[in-house]
Amino acid sequence: MDKAKRKAIIAGNWKMNKTPKEAKELLTAIAPLVADADCEVIACVPYVDLATAIEATAGTNVKIGAENCHWAASGAFTGEISTGMLKEIGVEYVVLGHSERRQYFGETDETVNKRTKAALAAGLKPIVCVGELLWERECNITEEVIARQIKLDLWDVTEEELKNVVIAYEPVWAIGTGKTATAEQAEEVCAFIRAQLAKLYNQDAADAVTIQYGGSMNDGNADELLSKVNVDGGLIGGASLVAEKFAAIVKAASK
Ligand code: PEP
Repeated sequence: MDKAKRKAIIAGNWKMNKTPKEAKELLTAIAPLVADADCEVIACVPYVDLATAIEATAGTNVKIGAENCHWAASGAFTGEISTGMLKEIGVEYVVLGHSERRQYFGETDETVNKRTKAALAAGLKPIVCVGELLWERECNITEEVIARQIKLDLWDVTEEELKNVVIAYEPVWAIGTGKTATAEQAEEVCAFIRAQLAKLYNQDAADAVTIQYGGSMNDGNADELLSKVNVDGGLIGGASLVAEKFAAIVKAASK
């Protein structure tokens, strides 16, 4: 399958930024700038912004995602949010396994897998993040790390469910650091991810999966990164908080 047939997806990951009022302002600025986009446009926002974000983007082509979800339907999990809560208010996507969750909040491949399975069962589309640490790259074990994450994070995800999974390749050393992977490095690992998916499922299933690159993608480097055949979009942190920068990335993905 050639790249043109895969859905290009540009998703903003707002992290712990923007109050509901600020979220409304930012989305109101973004929506008209991306109205003609020829790719999927998503804003993944803090939990308390979700309802406002969904209201502010009603009738536009901007979709809303959450930044995490729990695997249980309900229960004694103080501070957590269930897939049912997200679905009921109209959330479509959910970022899972972000390196900041893995690094600061004890997220493991096992919990990423549980969240992924729960999200899919609820009809949410998970954006599953994988990526190597700097020292893992320096030790030349990037492929080993990525292969393990892909296998474990997608454990027991069926071929049918895979159609609703987005993978984000996010080298940890490039997130929020201003250090972008070169387009060649991004392509090399995104192609490797697709090859792993082909091994776990089959080539057709792998060819249909949208694989994003994330890590200091911005309006200056998006064109080159997105020109690569296995880079189908971007997960954008810092640059997604500035309407014009985010819109420029969406434009680059729309070519
Ligand atoms: C991210 O948070 O997923 C990310 C890629 O951040 P940044 O674009 O700021 O590096």
